[in-house]
Amino acid sequence: TTWSVAVAPVDLEEGTVTFLTFEDISAKEEAGQMRRDFVANVSHELRTPLTALLGFIETLAGAARNDPEAQARFLGIMRREAERMSRLVQDLLSLSRVEQDERVRPTERVDLRAIIEGSASALEPFSEEVGSTIDLQLPEDPVLLPGDADQLRQVFVNLIENGLKYGKDGGCVTVRLTTSDRDPSLRGPGARVDVIDDGEGIDHFHIARLTERFYRVDSHRSREMGGTGLGLAIVKHIVNRHRGRLRISSEKGEGSRFSVILPLTF
Ligand code: ADP
Repeated sequence: TTWSVAVAPVDLEEGTVTFLTFEDISAKEEAGQMRRDFVANVSHELRTPLTALLGFIETLAGAARNDPEAQARFLGIMRREAERMSRLVQDLLSLSRVEQDERVRPTERVDLRAIIEGSASALEPFSEEVGSTIDLQLPEDPVLLPGDADQLRQVFVNLIENGLKYGKDGGCVTVRLTTSDRDPSLRGPGARVDVIDDGEGIDHFHIARLTERFYRVDSHRSREMGGTGLGLAIVKHIVNRHRGRLRISSEKGEGSRFSVILPLTF
């Protein structure tokens, strides 16, 4: 615990009385540290592609000036690096927006089944690219709940995309939507979406930290797949805003399950 002590001498007729005020500033210190870490992380994440871009610009203007083949190759790399920066900036904006929104509970009536269908079809091209399939297991009827459709769509795009990225190539991501009158973790009516992959799974040690910004189990793999390390942090804030729960369970070697549980009551 960190204490801040303020000393305030007050002159009275009888003499001087000194007031000592103690304040526990551990939480403030921690928030300050988190902010500094965040800025350091963002700077680092932006600096890496920026350094690469500047290096290739130098090369294109110099050594590779008369080498069309090298130029084409370098331009390809530059495009990838610029895209990486653009994804990072987009995710940072989404994160700051969902953090802002977290205090305001959504009230719009949305159909979770349609949102999941939309998220899955948006990822159709990517699933083809990695040769995997998305197995949608949805109820017959719409599932209506209070929500923010764009944000919920982002939740399922992020989770299904992760399943495809970290699952087996040529594997399958199962997305199952069920409802219950009394969900045990909500103690009320809830919808539950399980996103299950057949990847190598996640060590228990990492699970509790996955939703921290920029936390990655394998940074190399994440970067290679175009990850920003912010996807699950965004998911967490959106689920919180909906007063829902995010549960992660995984067995090493047997894949992972990310479950989102959302209240159905308006
Ligand atoms: P990223 O952009 O790196 O994918 P996320 O916030 O979405 O960032 O995920 C954080 C980390 O959690 C990933 O880098 C990866 O190590 C791990 N992770 C997320 N989803 C899965 C999954 N389905 N299977 C295994 N690991 C996962």
